[in-house]
Order: sequence, then C-alpha cells, then structure tokens
Amino acid sequence: MVHFVGAGSGAVDLITVRGARLLGEADVIIYAGSLVNPGLLAYANKDAELYNSATMTLEEVMAIIRAAEAEGKTTVRLHTGDSSIYGAVREQFDLLEAAGIAYDVCPGVSSFCGAAAALKAEYTLPGVSQTVIISRMAGKTQMPERESIRALAGHNATMILFLSMGVIGKLQAELLAGGVAQDTPAAIVYKATWPDEQVYRCTVGTLAETAQQNGITRLALVLVGGFLGHSYSRSRLYSPDFSTAFRGAEP
Ligand code: SAH
Repeated sequence: MVHFVGAGSGAVDLITVRGARLLGEADVIIYAGSLVNPGLLAYANKDAELYNSATMTLEEVMAIIRAAEAEGKTTVRLHTGDSSIYGAVREQFDLLEAAGIAYDVCPGVSSFCGAAAALKAEYTLPGVSQTVIISRMAGKTQMPERESIRALAGHNATMILFLSMGVIGKLQAELLAGGVAQDTPAAIVYKATWPDEQVYRCTVGTLAETAQQNGITRLALVLVGGFLGHSYSRSRLYSPDFSTAFRGAEP
C-alpha cells in the first residue's frame, strides 16, 4: 500500500493528523527533500527506510515502491504542500494503477493557504475578486498560450504564482503587458509557515526589485491583486439586513 501524503507548507505541526499517523506507520518513506521540511521526518518510525526523491528519477521512485510492495511493506510518498498542485503525482498514480499497486491520497495544506495565513489575507474579497487563479511562468514545463500570464492577467482576479521566482522580471513584464496596473498590490511570501518565513508587500511595478533587494530566488509565491488592498464590500452572509437559512434579517 502506498499513501501519498501532503506534508503541508512547511511548519512541522501543519501536517494533518492523518498524515502524521501514516508517516509513523510507514516502513518506507520517499520524501521530496528539495521542499519538504526535514523536521517532518521526526514523525517517522525509527526503523523506517528514508529516501530523498530530490535526487531520484520517477523510475527510481517506482523501483523503491515496487520493492517495498514485494515485501508487503507500507510506503508513504511525502509531497510538499498538497500533492494536487504541481506535485507530479498523476504519473505515479498511473504507474501504480498499471502495476496493480493500491494507493490513496491524504491532502495537505498547500503553500498558497500558508501564504494567505502569513499575509492575514482573504483571496476572495467581495467587491474585489471572487476568483483565484493559480498559475506559473513557463519553465521546463511549457505553458499553453491561452494560459500565459499575460492572458490570465486580463481577468483582474486574485493571482497566485508558483515556481516563478527565477523569472520574476519576466513575470512582472507579463503582468503589466496583460493590463495589470503598476500600482496593483502584490506580495512575495518566502517559505510560508516555516520558522524563517518572510513576507514582502509591494506592487506589481516593484515585484522584481523587491525580490532582488531581499535575495529571494526560490521557495516563494507571488501574489497579485486587489485583495491585498484596503477597499472591499462587507459580506452579505453576515449582514444584518440579509436572511439566511439560519438567521432572519433584522427589521
Ligand atoms: N504542492 C506544493 C507546490 C509544489 S511546487 C504546494 O501545494 O504548495 C513548488 C513551488 O511551490 C515553489 O517553487 C514555490 O513557488 C511554492 N512553495 C512551496 N512551498 C512554499 C512555501 N512554504 N512558501 C512559499 N512558496 C512555497
């Protein structure tokens, strides 16, 4: 049996109760060492075999899993944040299916949720944006043209950009070319929820300069949108003049 476990965004106590239990029960743990906080391995059984997937190929990961299965062992595949976001899990699921190996998935706190906590922000502010776009700049992975940052920027929705610190100058240029105003609020959150988390608030026009001045080149999210500003509408749900299934409107 293989359990894909979301490690959470960094802090060791942000893994789910289920994820921590699965780690404690695993015979074999394959963790994404480039991003997962190594402190999480303290949840592992002292006899568990540990493998850092940062130095492995998909084929090598699968070979470890197959060997564990042959011995009736339980494997945890520990991915950073939640494995559904840039987790490269689908290819693993499909290979496991083909090999007839049972697996399940335990969600985790994605870094975009960790970043919201760090910023004390709400991504879906009434009167500002009710849509969150999660995307990235093209890297080794190509972006379909209709999903270019330039094209997505036109929606004026809340934007959360992963995996883009290495091309922050280009990201800034794409946002501006897509019609986002220079003074639109933006933020860079480095290592959200880790002990050395850093939060930088800036504008779209100063994104690259902010990253450069603070030496942020990886392990950070770029957040863009009016949700980082000060004006919004209050919620209808908690408004005295609004009836809900649970509460009548005040006269
Ligand atoms: N599955 C992960 C994302 C993996 S892609 C998740 O749900 O968070 C790796 C990228 O995620 C990094 O380049 C960075 O952009 C972002 N990231 C991961 N952990 C982060 C953290 N604690 N703080 C800020 N960004 C983080």
